[in-house]
Amino acid sequence: MSWTLRYGSFIPEKEGLREALCTLGNGYFATRGAGEEADADDIHYPGTYLTGGYNRLTTEVAGHLVENEDLVNFPNWLKLRFRPAGGAWFNLRGVDILDFEQTLDIKTAVLKRRIRFRDRENRITSIESGRLVHMRDPHLAAIELKITPEDWSGPIEICSELDGTIVNAGVQRYRELNSKHLHPIGLGEANDESLWLHVETVQSRLEMAQAARTRLFTTEGPCSAARELLQGDEWVAHRITTDVSAGKPLRIEKVVAVHTSRDRAMSEPGLAAREALSEAPDFDELLATHSKLWEWLWRLFDMQLIDSGDAEQVEAQRILRLHILHLLQTVSAHTIDMDAGVPARGLHGEAYRGHIFWDELFIFPFLNFRAPEITRALLLYRYRRLPAARRLAKEAGFEGAMYPWQSGSDGREETQKLHLNPKSGRWLPDNSHLQRHVNLAIAYNIHSYMKVTDDRQFLAFYGAEMMIEIARLFASLATWNAEHERYEIRGVMGPDEYHDSYPDAEQPGLDNNAYTNVMAAWLFTRTIELLDLLDDAWRHMIADSVQLTEEEIERWRRIASKIRVCFHDNGIISQFEGYDLLLEFDWAGYRARYGDIQRLDRILEAEGDDPNRYKLSKQADVLMLFHLFTADELTRLFGIMGYEFDHAMIPRNIAYYLARTSHGSTLSRIVHSWVLARSDRAESWKLFGQALRSDVDDIQGGTTHEGVHLGAMAGTVDIVQRGYSGLEVEDGGLRFDPCLPTELRHLRMNIRFRNHILMLDMNHERLIVRSAEGSAAPLRLARGEAVEQIRCGEKKTFALPPT
Ligand code: BGC
Repeated sequence: MSWTLRYGSFIPEKEGLREALCTLGNGYFATRGAGEEADADDIHYPGTYLTGGYNRLTTEVAGHLVENEDLVNFPNWLKLRFRPAGGAWFNLRGVDILDFEQTLDIKTAVLKRRIRFRDRENRITSIESGRLVHMRDPHLAAIELKITPEDWSGPIEICSELDGTIVNAGVQRYRELNSKHLHPIGLGEANDESLWLHVETVQSRLEMAQAARTRLFTTEGPCSAARELLQGDEWVAHRITTDVSAGKPLRIEKVVAVHTSRDRAMSEPGLAAREALSEAPDFDELLATHSKLWEWLWRLFDMQLIDSGDAEQVEAQRILRLHILHLLQTVSAHTIDMDAGVPARGLHGEAYRGHIFWDELFIFPFLNFRAPEITRALLLYRYRRLPAARRLAKEAGFEGAMYPWQSGSDGREETQKLHLNPKSGRWLPDNSHLQRHVNLAIAYNIHSYMKVTDDRQFLAFYGAEMMIEIARLFASLATWNAEHERYEIRGVMGPDEYHDSYPDAEQPGLDNNAYTNVMAAWLFTRTIELLDLLDDAWRHMIADSVQLTEEEIERWRRIASKIRVCFHDNGIISQFEGYDLLLEFDWAGYRARYGDIQRLDRILEAEGDDPNRYKLSKQADVLMLFHLFTADELTRLFGIMGYEFDHAMIPRNIAYYLARTSHGSTLSRIVHSWVLARSDRAESWKLFGQALRSDVDDIQGGTTHEGVHLGAMAGTVDIVQRGYSGLEVEDGGLRFDPCLPTELRHLRMNIRFRNHILMLDMNHERLIVRSAEGSAAPLRLARGEAVEQIRCGEKKTFALPPT
């Protein structure tokens, strides 16, 4: 139960959602869970996406040239159709479905279908299929399809195809834009049983070659069949004809190899794909090696919540595992060599064009405590785009490096200038690029990675330079306000995208967004501390190469100590300067009128109104501070800035902003659940439960079919991993402060930390930490006042105070 995502009937309207949720991938490429028989149409959308596989196209819209870079939908390798000779090709909407079951086996990352149907000629056939995208060999994927004619015999035709007639059409609102990213380089038959197709993206000249081998088997063994090669300009297929007899299954295996021009250790993708295919074993062996690898992955990455058959627990467990599965299918050890970041919507669809935002802030913590090697590689994606970020800063008149709000292949700003409100049909200016806080998220990610790993080599070669350049950016964004005797950052947006300007202002942007300013103070102090970790020679070399002077560092200190944060209502941190002057919003009235008011921006704009006028938000903004920092850290930070910070401000601010949030982003409930974890466990658990359902139930009402929300998926995992366990790095060791919600009686998980593999087991009474046998140096563990050293092979138990 807790390892399967199961659908017991075929529901056309739900197909897009299920295809996204049943995506299989390995961090190198991923393919949506569309049926092997499906073409893109009004309900199906097969999609295959390569990590970092982008292409740019230009379209003329209303006399303007609009350029967009997209994560490309590559050729569909799934296609495997069948029909009784002379009949209609099998299609779920062309038959009477007698039995249907689609299951994503979360443990082995295998997608299965069992369908029994009656066709238009009254024949009954049952099919059973399994599909995998291989986790050990990232270039391989395979399908097994068993067809059993129950009450008929005769010739059957199988069509196994590689289809390159693909366009990007997964997102309705992008459909007016050019979408043909691919053109063919070549195609043909590699041998009697194998085909190949080689395509190239039209602008980025990224090549992908696919090779496919199709074999047929009866219960007696391999089955010979007549094959015909069919081909067009952009597709190639084998039409295979054989005889089947009633009650006797015909088994078909399609094994596929994928290589691209981004691969290493390869001369040419076409050759590499054909060679890989010629060495590829059959389905069973692929399944065995694939499942074996997943077994290892789950040993490290699983989190166990269940201590009884309690339905709520089992459900939370199942979805949490589904989230872990999708994270690992999007970023894995195979991503390390790929120069890629994590697309906000995974490799599961085309929303946000596969771009990379600040969502990595929610994704990296999960990786940090298990496979920080992957985080390191993902941070290098940013490092390689430092020149582009410097360019962006310079063009905008700033210093240092300014990473874009949306990033793709080369690190330029990919955010659109206009976006469509599907509710009103109007194109509106998109100011979201003013979210300079994406840079703070990158800095925070570097710092967290350093805290977990103490990887000074990374710091010396890459991390320090990024931190310096981001600190420079914020120093140049800060201006002195003589009246307030404080530094200010003006004209930006915070995480809450419902506010992008002051009501009726001509220029977009807001002043003194609290999240941005506090994070900037954090950035200056942490950058200085990180530089101190470097040995003198390196520090001087880096400082010299980026011309960092003592005066500049002094200015950072000054800004940190004098940056402005606004307050109102006696201790409420104002989301931005002037927030207090906005109108209160009629929450009850709008709820009564519209029911679902998550996307208040669209509702208000369609009414001719503007969310900028109100005290409302799409997602946590001020509250992000309580998500990222502990109360003690905030006291220290506000102290540095010269403000009083009283712990009692935390619950007051949480209550204030929670009451003014529409949760229009799936990230919102994550943050709110997190910040309530200690003060209101019941509410935290409730929001956690809703966040868990973001994608499985598509709670935004129709966004998941365009790609899962990977930040929210990772966020739920991290609420359990760090939020409820109170796991923190302290003095090079670990501190725990478990506060499991009442409904979560038990939590077990493994983490990797500083060469230890630690098995954590906690309930409401105690925490047990076991370290696996090994040779790591003793590790400091703390819980409350208790501090212990744990050695490899040892176990430590901490009693937990009653709550
Ligand atoms: C959210 C952003 C997020 C983006 C991509 C938006 O709806 O407001 O915070 O980065 O989606 O997930």
